[in-house]
This record gives sequence, C-alpha cells and structure tokens, in this order.
Amino acid sequence: MNARVHQPVHSTQHAASYYAASTNRHLAYPPLRGERRVDVCIVGGGFSGLSTAIELAQKGFSVVLLEAHQIGWGASGRNGGQLIRGVGHGLEQFLPVLGAEGVRALKLMGLEAVEIVRQRVERFAIDCDLSWGYCDLANKPGHLAGFAEDLEELRDLGYRHELRLLQPGQMHEVVGSERYVGGLIDMGSGHLHPLNLALGEAVAAQSLGVQLFEDSAATRIDYGSEVRVHTAQGLVRAAHLVLGCNAYLGDLNPALGGQVLPAGSYIIATEPLSEAQAKALIPQNMALCDQRVALDYYRLSADRRLLFGGACHYSGRDPADIAGYMRPKMLAVFPQLADVKIDYQWGGMIGIGANRLPQIGRLEDQPNVFYAQAYSGHGLNATHLAGKLLAEAIAGQAGGGFELFARVPHLTFPGGKYLRSPLLALGMLWHRLKELL
Ligand SMILES: Cc1cc2nc3c(=O)[nH]c(=O)nc-3n(C[C@H](O)[C@H](O)[C@H](O)COP(=O)(O)OP(=O)(O)OC[C@H]3O[C@@H](n4cnc5c(N)ncnc54)[C@H](O)[C@@H]3O)c2cc1C
Repeated sequence: MNARVHQPVHSTQHAASYYAASTNRHLAYPPLRGERRVDVCIVGGGFSGLSTAIELAQKGFSVVLLEAHQIGWGASGRNGGQLIRGVGHGLEQFLPVLGAEGVRALKLMGLEAVEIVRQRVERFAIDCDLSWGYCDLANKPGHLAGFAEDLEELRDLGYRHELRLLQPGQMHEVVGSERYVGGLIDMGSGHLHPLNLALGEAVAAQSLGVQLFEDSAATRIDYGSEVRVHTAQGLVRAAHLVLGCNAYLGDLNPALGGQVLPAGSYIIATEPLSEAQAKALIPQNMALCDQRVALDYYRLSADRRLLFGGACHYSGRDPADIAGYMRPKMLAVFPQLADVKIDYQWGGMIGIGANRLPQIGRLEDQPNVFYAQAYSGHGLNATHLAGKLLAEAIAGQAGGGFELFARVPHLTFPGGKYLRSPLLALGMLWHRLKELL
C-alpha cells in the first residue's frame, strides 16, 4: 500500500483525490474585485450553489456566485459519486406537519431529483462518466424485508425504472462478496465523476451569464432589503441572497450553522484493476451501498479503480492515515484485494441534520435570504432539487415543493459549536450498538 498524500484533507486546494487527479477541466475563475450589483448573490460553489445559479439564470436573473476556494472544493467535488433516488429518511415522521399528500409529494421529489441531474448532464453535454445502475445491499434479513417494502412503494409512486429484489443466492450477480444477504437493484440510480459534474455545471452557469468568482470567501453579510456580501477585495449588492455552504458554512450564519453537524467521510481509490478483476468485484458496474449507520459505499471509476468510501467522524479530526483506516473496511468486503495498491485517499465533510431531511428554506427574519443544506450524506441528487426549488421561490412561483420543505421545522443541535459533535457521536454510538443486537 502506498497511497499518495499530496496535502492535508482540508487545505485550500481541491482534495488530493482521484477526482482532482483525473478531472477533464482545468479552468480558474478570478477572485471578486470591486463592486457588483445583481439580482441574486449565491455563496458556495458546490452543487447547491451551482444548481441554483443555473436555474436562476435560466429564469433571467442576474447572478454572482462566490466560492471561498475553488468550484467543487467542498463535498461536491469529493463525494462517492453515487446518484441515488430519494430525499431524507423515514419521511413518515413528517405526516403530522405535511399530511399524507405532502409526504407523498416529498417522495416524488426524491425521484425527480435524479432526473434533474440526468437532464442537466444531457442538456449541457457534461462529460462526467454518468453510468446507470445501483444496488442497495442488505446486511441482515430485516434489511431485505425493508427493500421489498421500498420496491412496492416505488411502484406505487409510478417509478419508471427497472427494480429487482435479489435473494441471498443471487448476490453474485452484482457483487463479488460474501457479506450480504440480499439486495434491491435500481436502474434509475447510478454513479458519476462528481468533480467533473461540478466543473461542467460551472461552465454551463457561465454560458448562461452567471458571474463566478473563486478565492472569494464571503467574510461578512449586511442583511436588509438590499443584501451586501463582503469579500476580501469586493462587495456584492443583491436583492436576494442564497447560502449554499452546507457543512462548510462556519460562522457565516450561526443560526443556520447550528442546524447542521459537520461529519467527516473518507474514500480510498485502488490502482486500476484489470477488466477481469473489476468484473469479478462489480459485474454490472453498479454503485453499491450497505444499510448500516456508518455505511460502506463503493463503485468502479471509469478507469476501473475501486472507489471505496465509508466512516462518519464527528470529532472534527480526520484520521492521520486515511488509507490505513479505510483499507481494512475494504478488505472486510473484498478480501481478494489484499495485494492491490491504494493510489488515492481523501475525505470531506457531510452536513447532517437532526431529522435527515434536507433543509431548504428562507430565513424567518430576512425573507430575501434563502438556504439549502444538511443533505446528510445523500446530496448529489437533493442539491439539484434544492436549486430548482430555490429558484422557483425567488421567482415568486408559490405553492411548489419549496413551501413543503420550508414548512418542516429543524432542530438546532444542543451544545453549541463545540459540544454538538461529541453529543452526536454518543447518539451514533447508540445506533451502532443497536445494529449489533
Ligand atoms: C466523502 C463524501 C462522500 C459523499 N458521497 C456521496 C454520494 O456518494 N452520494 C451523494 O448523494 N452524496 C454524497 N455525499 C454528500 C454530497 O457530496 C453533499 O451533500 C453535496 O455535495 C453538498 O453540496 P453543497 O453544494 O451543498 O456543499 P459543498 O459541496 O460542500 O459546497 C459548499 C461550498 O461552500 C463554500 N463556502 C463555505 N463558506 C463560504 C464562504 N464564506 N464564502 C464562499 N464560499 C464558501 C465551500 O468552500 C464549498 O465549496 C458525500 C459527501 C462526502 C464528504
């Protein structure tokens, strides 16, 4: 094992990931200098910000997007690349607030979210290795029973893609591991190169007139009917503000920050595998994900590396040796990879919300300030839905999905900035103990 470590996980450059090493775009956007006056200022150059920018520009708004580092620097350019149907978790918990129709609408939007990505990639011809096919993996029989219910519900919602339950004896069709007792194949979900998607969306946004700035952290916001967003060398004056910083929001808006718990997730990429090796691991080139709280997620890259991700760290400290930490997890699933080299290791921050529903809304006391955050590790699709909903709300298209999301209350994590991580770590430990029973 000789994983390359080019720089710490959270330096100001793109993470030393397989994605950064294999990206097909090398564009840079200038830092903001001087003053701009626009309809909407967006803070955050990940999928939330980019997607909102594209949707707004398509509606005719003038937009400035500010990114503190580089486009795709955050979770959007580092993630597992798994594009999976659905938003949130256990949506029945929202029945008292949204009613049966509202919950059904959330479920339908969770399916629409993937279609938004599909259409975006097609419309702007974004080269991001998009490939269809995903399988949920059951760690125990109870999970398989849950998959059967999921399948029924998806059919009831009119899901138009192929779905198939796999019994224990059929698992070899999708994964070369003895670890699982069943699965649910979904040909309407899939995987892609997330950094190339983000950079492709930046190009698309620019082609629609969006002004993008990198190395342009928003350092201060003056709220009011005209919002003023300050950076080190510039100022944006806008009628509306969108905050799309997710787990990297920091102290920019403490009230929103208190609703999101940043947690580290980590990925290793093997050296390229032979065609035969790759086919033996993941015969149908699907994305795969198990059902545990600290889940394993993995897939093949376009050049046949295994990208294996997992873990969930709330301590705020990354493992000193990510490959040393993740490799045993990979070998527990694929012991046959004992002699395979690890070429890349990296991590990023996911933003967890207490009820696991993405937080899409507007500030109560500042109605021209909108936000989307807390995708709880399942944001590739949901960020794209958020972009559409935020743009509709800013355009005054009332009554849409935005209002449903905005009606759901979200808890502020107790303990403030320093205590909320240890408290959540305790909560997660409890869930993991329950898994063992
Ligand atoms: C390791 C990992 C694996 C994951 N795997 C998957 C997966 O397989 N499938 C899936 O669906 N989801 C996955 N996720 C989650 C998914 O990546 C996120 O939900 C999604 O990318 C969030 O996008 P975002 O734009 O909201 O935030 P981010 O992509 O994190 O972007 C926020 C941006 O805001 C910028 N910013 C912060 N503060 C400021 C400021 N003051 N001024 C200007 N800019 C600022 C940051 O620099 C950053 O670039 C994963 C996440 C991680 C970390």
